[in-house]
Amino acid sequence: KRAKHSGHAELYQACDSTAARQRFSLETELRRAIERDQLHLAFQPLVDLKSGAVLGFEALARWDHPEKGAISPVEFIPVAEESGLIVPLGRWALRAATRTLAEWDRKAGSPLPVHMAVNVSAVQFHRDDVVSAVEAALAESGLAGNRLKIELTESCIVSDPDGIAQVLRAIHDLDVMIAMDDFGTGYSSLAYLQQLPINVLKIDRSFVAPMLQDKDSVAIVRAILGLASALGMATTAEGVESPELVETLISLGCDVAQGYHFARPLPSDEAYAYFRSRNA
Ligand code: C2E
Ligand code: CA
Ligand code: CA
Ligand code: CA
Repeated sequence: KRAKHSGHAELYQACDSTAARQRFSLETELRRAIERDQLHLAFQPLVDLKSGAVLGFEALARWDHPEKGAISPVEFIPVAEESGLIVPLGRWALRAATRTLAEWDRKAGSPLPVHMAVNVSAVQFHRDDVVSAVEAALAESGLAGNRLKIELTESCIVSDPDGIAQVLRAIHDLDVMIAMDDFGTGYSSLAYLQQLPINVLKIDRSFVAPMLQDKDSVAIVRAILGLASALGMATTAEGVESPELVETLISLGCDVAQGYHFARPLPSDEAYAYFRSRNA
């Protein structure tokens, strides 16, 4: 029995150091991938539920590893956050996303009636000057501030509410929109929500997806929609995979939806074509 136990301990240790080694090599490779510009963005449409028009796109980071294939952001974003690589990655995402929208504008011959939403990690809010990163991306792309939206999570507010308030006001003053991502999954106080210049609450997929089977999820979504409306904020539902969910969200008064029912995150050319076909 004892031998078995110590065997387990050794196994755990071995696994532990293997995990640590793998994480370290992922970090090294991610650093290299950022330096060599081997990440790219995919773009998922944000659709107006009433008119069906595409209002914007969310830029999502993608990493196609030369040997390992596609690595999910669910895997590499945490590695980037723990290593500090999220700062160069986040700056890259802002520049690449705004550059892409400026390219679409040029292709169309005039500014498209869509905006680009970019995720900014709480870690970046604390370590980097996000305002200057946003200003630089706008200056470089030539886009007006209202073409850009920053998506942040509640964890930004929890750790440094006063610091984040200042930064968000400066971003707001640039005319850039601000969305609270994954709303309802974090621990931000409603008092802060009201004080910050937040334009949109994004309702997390974990509440939206089960709505057709689960009354409690409907109640939560309804409550979030009521809160947003009371605070003068717009709403976006994540994870909309079926026409039935679209109907339910419309009946509850949700503004905008995003999900596989409309489109998966698409390469730049396909995203542009999707916009042209929907907003003809
Ligand atoms: P998120 O910001 O909540 O992004 C939405 C995620 O939901 C995306 O996953 C998207 O592909 C997925 N999704 C969209 N519609 C559906 C649907 O109908 N069903 C299902 N099952 N999933 C749907 P993705 O691209 O794997 O990204 C995961 C997370 O990684 C993001 O969650 C975000 O937190 C983070 N992330 C991705 N790109 C970046 C980035 O450039 N910077 C930062 N800081 N985080 C990023
Ligand atoms: Ca997001
Ligand atoms: Ca989200
Ligand atoms: Ca989410």
